Amino acid sequence: MTIGRRYVLVMLVWVVTTSLSCRSQAVLRDAPSATRVRNVILVIGDGMGPQQVALANLYARHAPHSVVKGRELALVKLMREGQTGLSSTEPADGLVNDSAGSATQLAIAGPSRPGMIGVDADGNPAQTILEKARKAGYATGLVSNVRITDATPAAFAAHRPYRYQEAEIAEDLLTTQPDVMLSGGLRSFLPAQVGDEGSAVRAAWRARLPPSFRLESKRHDQRDLVAEARALGYPVVFDRDGLAAARGERVLGLFASGAMPDAIAMHRMSADPARTVPTVSEMTQAALERLSRSARGFFLMVEAGGQIDWAGHDNDAGDLLHEMLAFDETVGLIRDWAADHPETLVLVTADHETGSFGFSYSRWKLPSGLALSGQALAGEPFRTEFNYGDPAVLDRLHAQRASFGELLDTLDTRPVAERTPEALVALVNAASAFPITVDDARAVLATEPNETYVAGHRYLDERTFPRIADFKEFYVDPPRARAALLGRALAREQGVVWGTGTHTSTLVLAVASGPRAWTRRLEGLHHESELGRILMEALGLE
Ligand code: MG
Ligand code: ZN
Repeated sequence: MTIGRRYVLVMLVWVVTTSLSCRSQAVLRDAPSATRVRNVILVIGDGMGPQQVALANLYARHAPHSVVKGRELALVKLMREGQTGLSSTEPADGLVNDSAGSATQLAIAGPSRPGMIGVDADGNPAQTILEKARKAGYATGLVSNVRITDATPAAFAAHRPYRYQEAEIAEDLLTTQPDVMLSGGLRSFLPAQVGDEGSAVRAAWRARLPPSFRLESKRHDQRDLVAEARALGYPVVFDRDGLAAARGERVLGLFASGAMPDAIAMHRMSADPARTVPTVSEMTQAALERLSRSARGFFLMVEAGGQIDWAGHDNDAGDLLHEMLAFDETVGLIRDWAADHPETLVLVTADHETGSFGFSYSRWKLPSGLALSGQALAGEPFRTEFNYGDPAVLDRLHAQRASFGELLDTLDTRPVAERTPEALVALVNAASAFPITVDDARAVLATEPNETYVAGHRYLDERTFPRIADFKEFYVDPPRARAALLGRALAREQGVVWGTGTHTSTLVLAVASGPRAWTRRLEGLHHESELGRILMEALGLE
């Protein structure tokens, strides 16, 4: 062996050993890329800022009659076992997002814009995590307690420039074909004729659907997407029994014509053995049973709190509490399931905060004083100078028996002459532990000319608008603005404040549990598109 050859050999050994050691260091450093997870469960609370979590946490811990087992939220347990980070959710070229743009940014791991569904900031269709997972052989599912065609679930499996193209979104869902789809929203699947009184098609659907369904169609054609879904191999079910009886890996469950009932309505129904509508945790359970049969693993998005957002828009603290408790019940179910399936990465997060909500101290009903006996007081009287909130308020919030939306809808079903302040007082005071006066009701029903009128606008095509005294431009949707006026009437008694009828840029929580190599990547503050990227990488997707 010549010196030259020996030199080459030594160099070769050096190169191989150093590259091996570099490689092993790289493997150590980038351990996550070497060990994908089997399952990803993404749980979204729509409009669930940290303040909304605080409401549920205060209720769990301090309500005199808290219904939360062990007085600890499942989400708090998940935080203790996993990692808690923060997410910022702003859209391209904007400061605050809506649910469509935000869910899209999570789903495509890149920038998008308010109102957009599964398209990038330029409006081009972008592959979502669900579509990539499906292509890679994972089972996939979407669960929402609003409508399957609504912004949050749609953003994971449809591509449209505008969120309210729900008839087209329903078509996209059948193109993408997630294995499991459970929510409301049947009306975007039914032929337009269903809307024609007296048509045979309408009569046929009346016979097929539970009586609670409104008969309506949001389609402009005669396509029957229920029949099309069946032809694609989906059992299509409309109630709890149907869901329980459905066999096979796939299922499409549409449990309401429009949105599913809000959490207070579900709570009222919970004791009824004849209840036909599944809870969000029952839908999640059904999804997990099916998806877990996949040999490859699965991706599941659960919008467990689609109506947290609606309660926020309505400035409805009682409904907000119920929505949060329903959300947490589902988080608990997922936590229990994941405990038995350790290769599962769970991420609980939100798309934005809604309402700029919080308990706030005030000069309303100042406390009369407390009899305290601490040594530090040493004869000095202790005085709480302001009203820092009474934990009993939490039980009174939980006692609310109908959401503001439902109460005002009930008022609107009456003849115009009967939609009086007195009628509203009677409705509210029968359903809420915080009574209102006729003057309050008059303020709730007051209107003024809409100075932001826009012909043909989805929300602003109204000549009058509910009369809001301050920050009124942040109340954009007339029925919700009226509900928010009711929320304001109750606010001082509830000890809560609301800053807006829309969304805020508040950082939201990103709580992860599962393999530490992945959860630790979710620590700290990320833009939500980075969270989407990390979830894709966890499943080994490009
Ligand atoms: Mg949503
Ligand atoms: Zn919203």
